[in-house]
Amino acid sequence: MKKDHPSSADLSQYGRLAEYNRKRRFGVTPEPKGKLGQGKKTSLEFVVQKHRASRLHYDFRLEHDGVMLSWAVPKGPSIDPSHKRFAMQTEDHPIEYNQFEGVIPEGEYGGGTVMIWDRGTWDPEVADVDKALAKGDLKFRLHGKKLSGSWVLVRMRPRQWLLIKHRDDAAATEDITAAKSRSVASRRSLAGIARKAGASARQLAQAEEADKAAPS
Ligand code: MN
Repeated sequence: MKKDHPSSADLSQYGRLAEYNRKRRFGVTPEPKGKLGQGKKTSLEFVVQKHRASRLHYDFRLEHDGVMLSWAVPKGPSIDPSHKRFAMQTEDHPIEYNQFEGVIPEGEYGGGTVMIWDRGTWDPEVADVDKALAKGDLKFRLHGKKLSGSWVLVRMRPRQWLLIKHRDDAAATEDITAAKSRSVASRRSLAGIARKAGASARQLAQAEEADKAAPS
C-alpha cells in the first residue's frame, strides 16, 4: 500500500521506534520494549522524566502519532517566560515509557535513576502538528500537576530546540524544578527511587547528589 506522506519515517511497523529499540538491551534494562501505540485516543499524554544519567537532565515527551516525541532538557523546564531552555531532540520513545520510574543498570544506554517528575495531557495550539514540527515552531498547552498553560518549542538547528513558557496565568518566576523536586507518581526523591530499585552504591550516591543540587 502506498503512503500518501512520503516525509513519514515509518518504513516498517516499528520504524519510528527502531532507534529506541536498537539502543537498549531489554534482557538487562527494566525499560519497556518499544511498540507503537494503537488507535485513536481522546487525549494526548505528556510526561517529564527527571533522569540522572551521565548528567542530570529532564526528558520532555509529547505523544504524537503513537510515539512520544522526546527532548532532553539539561536545566529542566522553567515556568519563567524569560528563560529559554535548551532542548535536544532525542529518539522517539514508546508511550508505555511514560510509566517508567526506576533505575537503568550501569553500563546500559542512559544508565542511572529515572523519576516521573510531571505528567498529564497536552493540546496542540496549531492546526497541524506535523507541519508545525517541520517548520520548527510548535505551540501547545500542558495540563500537568506542575506544568500548565501555553508553551512553545522553537527549533534553532537540526534537533536543537528551545522550550519556552508563554506569558499567561500559569507563568511565574518560581524555580519549579527546585520547588517541586519529587516524583508525581511515587512522591519519592531520586535517591528514594534508586534505593527502592536496588541501585548500585555509585548510582545511589549520584542520585543523592542530584537531589541536593539546586539548579539555577
Ligand atoms: Mn534521559
